[in-house]
Amino acid sequence: MQAHDAMFIDGSWRPPLGTSAIEVRDPSHEGVIGEVPAGGAADVDAAVAAARAALPGWAATAPARRAEHLTALRDALAARREEIADTVTSELGAPLSFARAVHADLPITVAGSYARLAATYEFEERVGNSRVFQDPVGVVGAITPWNYPLHQVVAKAAPALAAGCTMVLKPAEDTPLVAQLFAEAVAAAGLPPGVFNLVTGHGPEAGEALAGHPDVDMVSFTGSTAVGARIGAAAGRAVRPVALELGGKSANVVLPGADLTRAVKAGVANVMANSGQTCSAWTRLLVHESHYEEAVELAVAAAARHPVGDPRADGTRVGPLVSAAQRERVTGYLEKGLAEGAHAACGGPGVPAGLARGYYVRPTVLAGVTPEMTVAQEEIFGPVLAVLSFVDAEDALRIADGTDYGLSGAVWARDEEEAVAFARRLRTGQVDVNGGRFNPLAPFGGHKRSGVGRELGRHGLTEYLHTQSLQF
Ligand code: NAD
Repeated sequence: MQAHDAMFIDGSWRPPLGTSAIEVRDPSHEGVIGEVPAGGAADVDAAVAAARAALPGWAATAPARRAEHLTALRDALAARREEIADTVTSELGAPLSFARAVHADLPITVAGSYARLAATYEFEERVGNSRVFQDPVGVVGAITPWNYPLHQVVAKAAPALAAGCTMVLKPAEDTPLVAQLFAEAVAAAGLPPGVFNLVTGHGPEAGEALAGHPDVDMVSFTGSTAVGARIGAAAGRAVRPVALELGGKSANVVLPGADLTRAVKAGVANVMANSGQTCSAWTRLLVHESHYEEAVELAVAAAARHPVGDPRADGTRVGPLVSAAQRERVTGYLEKGLAEGAHAACGGPGVPAGLARGYYVRPTVLAGVTPEMTVAQEEIFGPVLAVLSFVDAEDALRIADGTDYGLSGAVWARDEEEAVAFARRLRTGQVDVNGGRFNPLAPFGGHKRSGVGRELGRHGLTEYLHTQSLQF
């Protein structure tokens, strides 16, 4: 799509108040494919003012009518499915087939789910002698990362709008184009002016201005734990609600008696998807020590079935990383892992053969990893699997829970009962049991330093509501 040299504020594309711009690059060839304005505090002020002005009307709109608007928004996105996939492939580097099936279809599903929820949710209930009302929190400031650039926008916008909130979005600098496409869909769906506003810009300028804006009632942030902590601190100072979806270091735990081949194959596919740039990726494979060598061999064989290359080529399963900075970060972690005593059973630092241009890294399986190593503790955000061993289930639990994070995970056991018993003891937000699939209607979010609050489903809606009770 063609980049807008403007902000989407109060229902129309407005020239930015400053002159600086952000270049958007295609990570598969490093060339510039567009330019968007780098907004500042003045643009944020204008967008927040528009959201504030639109709030009374939108909050008073009947939920059934809001649901109709969300259905129109879902349809506007669905009509541009191919363009969404193409845009995400261009600015993120995701393989086109993955971009269609996940980057486009997931947000379309989520938008539809909130259209239904807006129509059916009980915004008022009776509790004994009280009437309890659930009202929109108000003006929401949403700040999103680049790794699932449309999904993360919709996972905030759809519930916020369903709740009756108005909002200002500051998307990631690396992937602003699909956010502009979303604003076009908002306009095409006929949402009232000011209900959704978009300010592109850098985190320390536009992001900081939005997160600290005195007229924003709530901030919803997805991104790194470091920035999330700053945003949480600002919300604390202002005493206002905040939702934080942050990093992860999730474990794929294969208990003795489970189907090792299936578990390792699924685990490798999970960590290679989106070039490993997934907050919930199962980046640590935990297997019983008696199966360790076999698991590493299976992982290497599975990684070989993930060809890395041009995201538009048939058969590519791993595209480039999003940026030169991410390639440096991932390469740095690989080097650190080797320096601390792990070894690359496949892949390792360096550029994949024949891919000198583009931000590519080699899909890697790290063996000989122990729980205290940096590569077992910190989020790498690349196609890198660390394989660790445990001696028994208690040890597995200790290792799985032994990081600062608690976002996702997987458990494989002989039977479902054993897997559920183990999963229920993990301090993590969501766990796939014996190959269970991601459910976009179930709540998603973290324990510990993976975040505060939940997105998706009913829990995702209630993040944007506050209650008032009247006693009779
Ligand atoms: P990031 O924290 O650098 O940036 C995220 C967003 O915050 C961007 O829009 C950025 O411009 C903005 N930002 C940066 N500095 C800011 C500041 N000082 N004030 C306000 N806004 C600021 O993260 P990233 O590198 O874009 O994304 C990757 C991270 O996001 C990973 O750690 C990943 O795990 C996490 N993530 C979490 C989830 C989840 O749901 N838990 C989902 C996806 C990504």
